[in-house]
Amino acid sequence: MADVKYIFVTGGVTSSLGKGIVSASLAKLLQARGYSVTIQKLDPYINVDPGTLNPYEHGECYVTLDGAETDLDLGHYERFLNVPTSQVNNVTTGRVYQSVINKERKGDYLGKTVQVIPHITDEIKRRIKLAGSVNKFDIVITEIGGTVGDIESLPYIESVRQLKWETGPHNCIVIHLTLVPYLSASGEQKTKPTQHSVKALLEAGIQPDILVLRTERSLVGDIKRKVALFCNVEERAVVESVDVSTIYDVPIRMLDEKLDQTVLRKLSLPVGDKPDLTEWTEFLRKLKNPKHKIRIGLVGKYVELPDAYKSIRESFIHSGAMNECQVELKFIHSEEINEDNVREKLAGLNGILVAPGFGSRGIDGKIITARYARENDVPFFGICLGMQCAVIEFARNVLKLEGAHSTEIDHKTKYPVIDLMEEQKSIIDKGGTMRLGGYKCIIEKKSKAYKAYGKSEIIERHRHRYEFNNKYFEDYRKNGMIPVGINPDSKLVEIVEIPSHKWFVGVQFHPEYSSTVLSPHPLFVQFVRACIGK
Ligand code: GLN
Repeated sequence: MADVKYIFVTGGVTSSLGKGIVSASLAKLLQARGYSVTIQKLDPYINVDPGTLNPYEHGECYVTLDGAETDLDLGHYERFLNVPTSQVNNVTTGRVYQSVINKERKGDYLGKTVQVIPHITDEIKRRIKLAGSVNKFDIVITEIGGTVGDIESLPYIESVRQLKWETGPHNCIVIHLTLVPYLSASGEQKTKPTQHSVKALLEAGIQPDILVLRTERSLVGDIKRKVALFCNVEERAVVESVDVSTIYDVPIRMLDEKLDQTVLRKLSLPVGDKPDLTEWTEFLRKLKNPKHKIRIGLVGKYVELPDAYKSIRESFIHSGAMNECQVELKFIHSEEINEDNVREKLAGLNGILVAPGFGSRGIDGKIITARYARENDVPFFGICLGMQCAVIEFARNVLKLEGAHSTEIDHKTKYPVIDLMEEQKSIIDKGGTMRLGGYKCIIEKKSKAYKAYGKSEIIERHRHRYEFNNKYFEDYRKNGMIPVGINPDSKLVEIVEIPSHKWFVGVQFHPEYSSTVLSPHPLFVQFVRACIGK
């Protein structure tokens, strides 16, 4: 194929329509038809990356293998496509302006006035094209964050208009997602918001090629024809996207609506044979027909906002389906757990996961939880801060190091069993300065982790500043908490386990980022197995 083809996905009427899921589903279908596809997200906020955002603001920060802190939609892309993303897949307004301003300071613009058009829009277009060129993809799907008409997304929309014009017909299309609300008082589905948001797009010079109508109930009568007529779009290019019980159903729905075929026709690309989705439908079958049911407690401090632990939740869906088991997650606020109520709070759970996190809020509840799981032989999975809490707890109650802590929380502790990494000590800036992305780990044979992975060398993604303090390495080993996974270069401890326990594993890395529908993460799979009692 000659050149990369571009698909842009915009949203109208309201946010949270699920542009990310529709983009990922379309990509899945195109991939199943033999095309190499990548997805990119353009975010309109001014933060350089979401790493500095509180999870309450924007949900989880997703980390790629190359160490980029990105929007959680990239997680969906990887989970659907089973292909890793990288820094180029997420661009923010902050990052765009940062590059333009850096160039200006270097004098690259040679005395010109630096402006939104052409300098900012050129930089945006450069980054869109870069996404396609990295691995020579056939198709780049670019999702524009925000809603059409927002002041912040205007430069992105203008860049799309320019790119559409520059690449010519059949090389670039725009898919616009809108909402068709149902008014129960009149018993009608309404198309006016769609007409208005298409008008907003037209004002910016863009005629959408395809409309995806999000709706709570199936569209009735001639809604599609009406929208097609008023919005100047082919009738078969109006696609219904009705609410479904799981996001993983969306590719199947989009296939039924022939979204992939319409896209390929508009891009003048061969449609080919019906895509092979056998593995995907097998996953859905297992997901919907579980033979077991378990309850896992997720102990964290952002439990009010489910998006804060997005990848962990999805990992349980993948690993649950693989085990033909429905995993019910009980979100428990770590601030609400204390010595007196821990039994009651954690009663009836088949397993406990202590979540990643930062700072002191809710830390005591996490440490108490780790102790409860250890002493009561309840399957335990500690991720990042969750592992650190298990290490602290073990120091205090088994090694009898009174007041042991992480220096993140208590920098004067007598027993800093979790301490700042050496290379972190001189770092002042907060953005993008943690130990980020993929690092190697060598796993001891005869460990539970080895059993899960089935191999001794792995690469997992990280996002932390503090680490297991190797000064205490032997104390832990001798007393039954074994550091079974070690980074071969830095000697940092990556995995700890208690062999005498049913299943007690703590990991310094984030396995949840690399779990996908077709390759559920082995540690989650084994943890679920242990919770079922296998
Ligand atoms: N706050 C801890 C650290 O920086 C853990 C980070 C995390 O859980 N992602 O090491």
